[in-house]
Amino acid sequence: MIHRGDSLFGEEKRLQERKKQLLYLVYHFLQDEGYYDSAQTFENEAQLTNQIEICDNIDLSTILQEYETYYNLRFQKYPKICKKVSNQTDLNEKQYRFRKKQNEIMPLDYSQKSIPNMSHSSNTNNSSNSSSNNNNKEIAKANLKQSNSLRSNKVLAKSKSSTSAPNGMMDITIVPLSIPPNVNTPVLQNEEESEPERLLKPLGAYREYSPEWKEYADIISKEIFMKHTNVYWDDVKGLYAAKQLLKEAVVFPAKYPQLFTNILTPWKGILLFGPPGTGKTLLAKAVATESKTTFFNISASSIVSKWRGDSEKLVRVLFEVARLQAPSTIFLDELDALASKRDGLIEHEASRRLKTELLIQLDGLAQTEDKVFLLATSNLPWDLDPAILRRLEKRILIDLPNTEARMSMMKHHLPPVIIEKTTPQLKCRIDYEQLAQKMEGYSGSDIKLVCKETAMNAMRKAFSALELSTASELKSLELKIITTEDVEEAIERTRPSASHMLPKLKKWQDEFGAV
Ligand code: ADP
Repeated sequence: MIHRGDSLFGEEKRLQERKKQLLYLVYHFLQDEGYYDSAQTFENEAQLTNQIEICDNIDLSTILQEYETYYNLRFQKYPKICKKVSNQTDLNEKQYRFRKKQNEIMPLDYSQKSIPNMSHSSNTNNSSNSSSNNNNKEIAKANLKQSNSLRSNKVLAKSKSSTSAPNGMMDITIVPLSIPPNVNTPVLQNEEESEPERLLKPLGAYREYSPEWKEYADIISKEIFMKHTNVYWDDVKGLYAAKQLLKEAVVFPAKYPQLFTNILTPWKGILLFGPPGTGKTLLAKAVATESKTTFFNISASSIVSKWRGDSEKLVRVLFEVARLQAPSTIFLDELDALASKRDGLIEHEASRRLKTELLIQLDGLAQTEDKVFLLATSNLPWDLDPAILRRLEKRILIDLPNTEARMSMMKHHLPPVIIEKTTPQLKCRIDYEQLAQKMEGYSGSDIKLVCKETAMNAMRKAFSALELSTASELKSLELKIITTEDVEEAIERTRPSASHMLPKLKKWQDEFGAV
């Protein structure tokens, strides 16, 4: 006969056993994912022993998967394991990160809790013992966080010192994005769930790489936007053909890889060429957002100016990291700065090595199934090294905007109500079509400049009144409504910056552009 006490005892024992197993599972997971430092700390803190190991075919991921399957069978939906934190917690986290950035060593939450509690630690009764234990735990946690914070500050300082360009031009960002859904992906519950965030693998996962390699990889990943670039196809006005081609080349293959095999293997390299300010960078950002690939954004001129001797190593590691984080898009802005056929003053051994490395990497992309795609831009395509050009299979002219695109840009920058939420309001009554026609030859960035100039002018006229007004008077302040004539005035003062380049670009397109 089983007594109630025995069954309770058995339950308690199982609970303890489960907890112990969880600790080993977590440790195993951290190690598997390359979080070696955390695993080490965890091992010490949880006092794990190397006499125990996880059985074959068991890990946290499998257990979670099994649970999902069970849940799905039972409730016809997948369980929600994580959720967004509330605003307040979010805020605390942000403050914590901000302080950490500011090199403050004591993390917010622990600095507030542990210090006042320390004064009670001399009490000798039971409750004070437990409070003292808690304090010790808090202090230990704080110390741990402090040392982690110190370490990360050190890494940050190291990577900063090794990357800060003399002219401050080094400009690399990686945007990790969601995993593309595959055919077997179950129907998900809502929008939030349908875009799981894709985390970069921690550098620790690259066990077999040298410290130098990791240092470069660290530099490459130092500016990471965790979500996306926030530019969508609709934000890019006009350029329909270019958008369609980029969808075929990157977005669809990333979304439906099973369709793009054999002869349909996606393009590995695309060159966007055209006058400056026509939306090439904007297009690349839209590709990043819409394709949900990990996005590497590099300004070629910064590689050349900063890295010179070591630039080829940086390029090599960049392509390797991109492969490891595939599917990836590498965006190389101003390719001509890096792969110019004119040797010029900057040409020396290092520059030649850089070009060779780029060629090797591009060949590597072409010969493998790796889902890595290169998107390069150039305002001066005729300057590009022919060997590199050959490897960019598609070359698309990003033309100046047509009347329709100019009109929608104007509507975007100068809508009927420019400022509505605050007072005074800034409004606009203009003939968009007439103005768009007047701006023939203007690039997207020229149009933006005209619109900004117009809006600033309208504001400028009110600046003195704004300065003298009190908060309550501001409400009644009326700004002059922007008219077509106001915009025309700004057009008179802003010359199109890039139209003179177009004939040469079109000629080059006829000869070399391949679509
Ligand atoms: P590029 O890379 O071709 O030199 P960008 O993409 O950096 O030019 O464009 C500069 C700015 O001009 C953009 O931030 C955007 O405000 C505006 N712009 C240019 N082309 C377009 C376009 N097709 N649609 C919307 N905005 C544009």
